[in-house]
Amino acid sequence: MYAVLRITFIKNMKQLSTTDHSRDIAGLKYVYPVLSRRAGGVSIGINFNTNNACNWRCVYCQVPDLQRGVAPLIDFTVLEKELHCFFQQLKAGTFYTQFNVPESLQQIKDIALSGNGEPTSVQEFARAIDLVAETALHYQVLPRCHFVLITNGSLMHQKNVQQGLQRLHDYGGEVWFKIDGGNLDGRKMINDCRDDNERIIEKLQYSSQLCHSKIQTCLFDYPRFPWNEQAQEPFLQFFQQIKAQCDIQDVMLYTLARPSLQPEAHELRALTSTEMQAFAQKIERLGFTVSVT
Ligand code: SF4
Repeated sequence: MYAVLRITFIKNMKQLSTTDHSRDIAGLKYVYPVLSRRAGGVSIGINFNTNNACNWRCVYCQVPDLQRGVAPLIDFTVLEKELHCFFQQLKAGTFYTQFNVPESLQQIKDIALSGNGEPTSVQEFARAIDLVAETALHYQVLPRCHFVLITNGSLMHQKNVQQGLQRLHDYGGEVWFKIDGGNLDGRKMINDCRDDNERIIEKLQYSSQLCHSKIQTCLFDYPRFPWNEQAQEPFLQFFQQIKAQCDIQDVMLYTLARPSLQPEAHELRALTSTEMQAFAQKIERLGFTVSVT
């Protein structure tokens, strides 16, 4: 049944590397493997935004030819075939040898709903989650690995997104909710996002009430928004407000690992480990569990 797709998959295969995170590495439309040295294995990415469209425009975004918009309709027949094809390769044990994955990294760490845009902008979001999870369960990839939705959180107020989060919760998944600034001015510059703090808290509450949620925050130095006390103070105040109003325990801080593909790329500087750790300690003092990448 999946023979044609399998041939395409093999014909397009490359060597997986921790620096090449291209979405088409396996030659598939929706499914892409990423080798992560940090995670210690392979992450199976699911990209619904095959049109490179997002409702935000983050200055550090690594999506090529990023455009404003939402994900196109999913072709569920293709998605199902790709999932079966991919998981069959895993089960048969041929995936790691075909992609020359080092032995130390030969394990699936997570399935991540994360692509070239905001994944929750896709129609039939809950149906897509069901299909991915049921197929992964069939091949016993779940529940052995994590199931993660990586989102900017902007659409959490929508009923179809909330239904998807409920399904994600049912499958033991979790949400990584992006917050990159402590106030509206900062987020306008970083994400081109228009939600004020109250609106973000409201969306974070929707998220955390429906599914286990963590905050994911990208930190960097940017001349229009320099990384100094002035930038950090609103952040800390906002995190304090979040702590008081949302059921959130974990904050994941990371900095730039690969170059942005947006015009601002040359203006951005990754923070040093010392800068990251110093800020992590400040967040920890607010009562969060903090991880730094
Ligand atoms: S939310 Fe993600 S995909 Fe959208 S612009 Fe920002 S980094 Fe890119």
